[in-house]
Amino acid sequence: MQKLMIALSTAAVLTACNGDGKKTVPQTETDSFNYRVEQFADLEILRYKVPGFEELTLQQKTLLYYLSEAALEGRDILFDQNGKYNLTIRRTLEAVYTSYKDTASADFKAMEVYLKRVWFSNGIHHHYASDKFQPDFSESFFRNAVKSTDPTLLPLQTGEGVDQLLETIVPYIFDPKVAPKHLNQKDGDDLVQTSASNYYQGVTQQEAEDFYNAMKDTTDKTPVSYGLNSRLVKENGKLTEKVWKVGGLYSAAIGRIVGWLEKAASVAENDKQKAVIESLITYYRTGDLKQFDEYAILWVKDLDSRIDFVNGFTETYGDPLGMKASWESTVNFKNLEATKRTEIISKNAQWFEDHSPVAKQFKKEKVKGVSAKVINVAILGGDCYPATPIGINLPNANWIRQMHGSKSVTIDNITEAYDKAAAGSGFTKEYAWSEKEVNMLKEYGFIADNLHTDLHECLGHGSGKLLPGVDPDALKSYGSTVEEARADLFALYYLGDPKLVELGLLPTNDAYQAEYYKYMMNGLMTQLTRIELGKNVEEAHMRNRQLIARWAYEHAMKSNAVELKVKEGKTYVVVNDYKELRNQFGVLLTEVQRIKSEGDYQAARLLVENYGVKVDPVLHKEILDRFVPLHIAPYKGFVNPRFVVTKNDKGDIIDVTLDYTEGYSAQMLRYSKEYSVLPSVND
Ligand code: ZN
Repeated sequence: MQKLMIALSTAAVLTACNGDGKKTVPQTETDSFNYRVEQFADLEILRYKVPGFEELTLQQKTLLYYLSEAALEGRDILFDQNGKYNLTIRRTLEAVYTSYKDTASADFKAMEVYLKRVWFSNGIHHHYASDKFQPDFSESFFRNAVKSTDPTLLPLQTGEGVDQLLETIVPYIFDPKVAPKHLNQKDGDDLVQTSASNYYQGVTQQEAEDFYNAMKDTTDKTPVSYGLNSRLVKENGKLTEKVWKVGGLYSAAIGRIVGWLEKAASVAENDKQKAVIESLITYYRTGDLKQFDEYAILWVKDLDSRIDFVNGFTETYGDPLGMKASWESTVNFKNLEATKRTEIISKNAQWFEDHSPVAKQFKKEKVKGVSAKVINVAILGGDCYPATPIGINLPNANWIRQMHGSKSVTIDNITEAYDKAAAGSGFTKEYAWSEKEVNMLKEYGFIADNLHTDLHECLGHGSGKLLPGVDPDALKSYGSTVEEARADLFALYYLGDPKLVELGLLPTNDAYQAEYYKYMMNGLMTQLTRIELGKNVEEAHMRNRQLIARWAYEHAMKSNAVELKVKEGKTYVVVNDYKELRNQFGVLLTEVQRIKSEGDYQAARLLVENYGVKVDPVLHKEILDRFVPLHIAPYKGFVNPRFVVTKNDKGDIIDVTLDYTEGYSAQMLRYSKEYSVLPSVND
């Protein structure tokens, strides 16, 4: 539940800071690295640099290489988790794409865009909005193209002909009524049966909830994450879990992951790290969730290694019941310079916990192990690719977080790439109220935004506690949104605290106002650029941001502290009193923490449904109309660098370098070839 995505449709920040946070200069002209790769549909593909890689030792580079291979081997697992026929559809499209002759036709071009979107979303549904995207090529074109493709290239099941393949996948691609949503969260629907994700088969929401409720022992102080690594299916009228492990579901891919992890263990930086990797291997072999917790505890305690990784079934955003985890991986190493910033925050964690406005009984008496670091990623995989978070806070199990702490990271080189790519887009100029706000964002936007991420990850998620006996899943489908709101509010509240200036984290007492303004502008208006007209807000982070901004606006407008003003037919956010806005963030933080601590489902539901979901259609249209001339893609993702390995005659690795020249389609096709061992349908 603890993954932070980029807050804005484009980082609304036009400049990058030079480290001391005082003066900022635009850097795109002087920086020859090509951050922008290509743009299509509502997406832009960027490239990230991996600063500091060259300075690592050969052993560290080799370790990164092995872990990066393990990160890429899980890609097909995610495709299958996201929908039963995603792999079949992707492989069919790739077969046509790489062999079709008339590549100049409009239908082919439209199919190419569709395929690029499938790659981006790891399936046929929008990665963020969750709706199935509609193809702009005709069904007859597609049928003919598939039929004219060499059948040996197509993902045909044993004994299956091309016609049968088409009967299976054509409705999934073309019929808007078939599997319309990857994740349905509509209040009152059977969320399991109406979601296209492949976590349940033939099971109703009630059956799934009953199945797992029967497993749960509320007196267990260290419960496993029930259902985390399995598909729940009904076979012969009986519910059973198909576990994702070696010898279970997805065995071929998991076996390859394990193979690379074994190599990684052999070049680990130290014994602690080696134990972490070996523990993960055991978990992949057994599928035992107790073992997963053991691994997570070892992982959270490995703080001294320079290199770190996430690899596994991790985040539960894609499951309507918030239990089953999508596969993801990142491989990274510590950015030593930038980590100094988060270390200051971590060192003062107890002070922040003690001074928050939250009621005493919901606070942690002792904030444990809030480790925080700034990292550079070297590879993104699974559910972190190509769309990726800018911060990660793990593990997710509440009791592990309370007893052993959590690891919190801010991903510096991704934030940097967003920032560089957004420079000069005209976004802030269009949506900010006046020159004053534009300048404020220019001056302090980047540093305040990074600090917000640090506070969110290092302190926000780690703060507070559940009352004894409260089910961690009590908030059900509202859990993710409430958790993100809690972390964001904690960060917002403290951004405005003079303590940050005292600690040397912000240059002036009003620098925080840049983030406040940006947050309100984004939550009330500009994040709507990512939503189609007529649709509601679905994604947990977006719901959280609208929830906070709307709630704060409604409560702060009473004293005129925040207004929505119209100038020449355009709506703007105006903040007249930042102190009062901070007060309101504090009030909402208090309430959101209460909801979380008490597991108050009804209050969570009302808060999210009333403030986080619904969109004002008139304002929405205006925001979209203003966005069009800017030609900015609302969503962004990344291509990875390619690891280039040099070996000597004996086969030993003697050098590892990174190549930044691979294009988007080339990379996707290569991954589909080199890291694709699962059957097209996995039952
Ligand atoms: Zn978060």
